[in-house]
Amino acid sequence: MTNLKLVSLESRERSIVTVGGVRFGGNFVIIAGPCSVESEHQMLATAEAVKEAGADMLRGGAFKPRTSPYAFQGLGLRGLKILARAREATGLPVVTEVLDTRDVSWVAEFADMIQIGARNMQNFALLKEVGKTNRPILLKRGMNSTLAEWLNCAEYILNEGNSNVVLCERGIRSFETYTRNTLDLSAVPAVKELSHLPVITDPTHATGKRSLIGPMSSASVAAGADGILLEVHHRPEEALSDREQALTPSQFSRIVHEVRALRQFQEEAGCGEMVSGGTTP
Ligand code: PEP
Ligand code: MN
Repeated sequence: MTNLKLVSLESRERSIVTVGGVRFGGNFVIIAGPCSVESEHQMLATAEAVKEAGADMLRGGAFKPRTSPYAFQGLGLRGLKILARAREATGLPVVTEVLDTRDVSWVAEFADMIQIGARNMQNFALLKEVGKTNRPILLKRGMNSTLAEWLNCAEYILNEGNSNVVLCERGIRSFETYTRNTLDLSAVPAVKELSHLPVITDPTHATGKRSLIGPMSSASVAAGADGILLEVHHRPEEALSDREQALTPSQFSRIVHEVRALRQFQEEAGCGEMVSGGTTP
């Protein structure tokens, strides 16, 4: 791939991106939390539950990109403040999405990591703006984007001086309608061949189905991902967004056990280089 001066694997050693005390690259990082921050009670209850189950980081959307303008749009600044309280209560770093260049400074102030969602992957003004912050960025793959387009978007961020980027494969659009998207697992080893940046998957948005999230989380470990992002709600039936795909805390806890055990097995079986560094082509 041409013109990937800063993100290509040739340009430097594999990156470790640190968020709070959490290290992406070499470790398997589990990010969990609700789709949206809905209230202080909901966020704190969910945050405590995912911490108890073994999550490394919290997520929760304060600014939500919704298909319909009439759907819940998020609590905005109030949501960011609730996220900060959840971080205080649990000690876990927080990632949250920014939708608008005008909100970048707020989000950078309250969050430990800034998410660029799939719908904004190629919002170049937003990429440049977050590239000017000193916060690590979680860059999701656009649902209709090629690997080259995705990596070029990471290049935009690094080009502004922010080299702390983690990529997130969250499923692409295909002809299949049973699943919400199609998790492109081959993107994980492909990114490892092309770039030094860590890459995680989002089995939640990729499948849109609670029952499929566990298997796709395990598959992500096998593919060599540096982590997963999962949506969990303390009461999924009450969730204001993405209700069908929210895991209960106990479902989440089972997935954590399984992926941690798989990862440990890989390490003990001597697949260390394969799981953390990609296979040698
Ligand atoms: C999200 O993580 O809440 C989200 C909206 O994800 P995506 O941008 O992948 O659809
Ligand atoms: Mn969601």
